[in-house]
Amino acid sequence: MEQGSHITIYRARWVVPVSSPPIEDGAVCTYEDAIVEVGPAHEIASRYSGRQVELEGCTIVPGLVNAHSHLELSALKWRMEPTGSFTTWVRNLMRAREAVRPSDAMNSAIEALEEMYETGIAALHDVGNSWFLSGILASFRKNDTPMPPVLGFSVLEIISPLERERQNISAMLAHEDSRQGPGQEIRRSFSAHAGFTVAPGTIRDIKGWTRERALPFSIHAAESPEEIEFFARGSGPIAELLRERGHWPLDWSSLGPTPVTHLDALGVLDPHTILVHCVHLDRRDMEIIRSQGAWACLCPRSNTFIGVGEPAVAQLFSSEIKICIGTDSLASNDRLSMWHEMKALSSMAPAVDPARMMAAATISGAEALGMEGILGSLERGKLTKMALVKGSPQEGRELYDWLVHAPAAGEVEVEPLP
Ligand SMILES: [Zn+2]
Repeated sequence: MEQGSHITIYRARWVVPVSSPPIEDGAVCTYEDAIVEVGPAHEIASRYSGRQVELEGCTIVPGLVNAHSHLELSALKWRMEPTGSFTTWVRNLMRAREAVRPSDAMNSAIEALEEMYETGIAALHDVGNSWFLSGILASFRKNDTPMPPVLGFSVLEIISPLERERQNISAMLAHEDSRQGPGQEIRRSFSAHAGFTVAPGTIRDIKGWTRERALPFSIHAAESPEEIEFFARGSGPIAELLRERGHWPLDWSSLGPTPVTHLDALGVLDPHTILVHCVHLDRRDMEIIRSQGAWACLCPRSNTFIGVGEPAVAQLFSSEIKICIGTDSLASNDRLSMWHEMKALSSMAPAVDPARMMAAATISGAEALGMEGILGSLERGKLTKMALVKGSPQEGRELYDWLVHAPAAGEVEVEPLP
């Protein structure tokens, strides 16, 4: 190992690798953009020399992973009202989107992405009905401004309820070059919106496309009571909405009995599938998700805003279901902060170990995105994507409990590191 100018040693009151116990008076030694070693500051100092960055009184954590966002809805911040009903919210959303000018949508999304980066998010899985994040990236390039160095996926989310549209979608999928993103940092992919807005065969095709490329596949699932009613009986506000949009009767042969059993019957649940929301799961759904190794991506603040209910956070954390966290969009949240999502989860399930919330927001998110080899924890060989929490807990306060509450409560600031 070359010693000297390319080595930087970050020393802080606490270093939280997440994959191993926190280190008091710890240090992270980096070489260019990779972590070389993490350990007690005196040990790192005896082994390496290089540029020293003293972060006295601060805490270093891995960069956070936002496993579900919709940047393209950012212009709707504070333009949507909580409704208490999913379908009412969807109707309001469709109306509100029509009033947004493309330039406003783009500028708000850029602002939202910058805010995500500033609060320590290192990677995201961003879905939208256009290649929105790709467009954002292109616009940074056009203006010659550096894009926040966030990694992840720009995902075209397909809404296509009729089986007879399947061929068009599969032709589009066949056309899209694999893995090719608009830049090295952000890769393109596809997702299906939900089990009730995408025909079964099309869901299979989209999952097949991502499976062939070993990419994550995400789909909204079990978000609202209306969705549960739709899968159980084929009726209710979602059926009405589909009828209004000219999608009824659906030309499907299968439905239900729950969103999860429906997706399981399609064979699309596996360790690369991310089920977004998982608010309304029954015991059997949970067992299916667990046994297939699929991910539950919780977006608690969005659930509260839309009024769909709360996920069974304590039960999910105690089931062996793999959990990651997303912010959802500014159409159902007033900020895209993983800290606020962790705090919300913790208030829904105070008995869950806050260390597990931190893991869900970091290493688990990275694993859900297939990026655990480079992100999500502070370990040798991973990228130097870190977040600096500008403080540390008072004597007697548990470190993880403080991490899960203090930044969201505004008691302490966070910024990306380096
Ligand atoms: Zn969503």
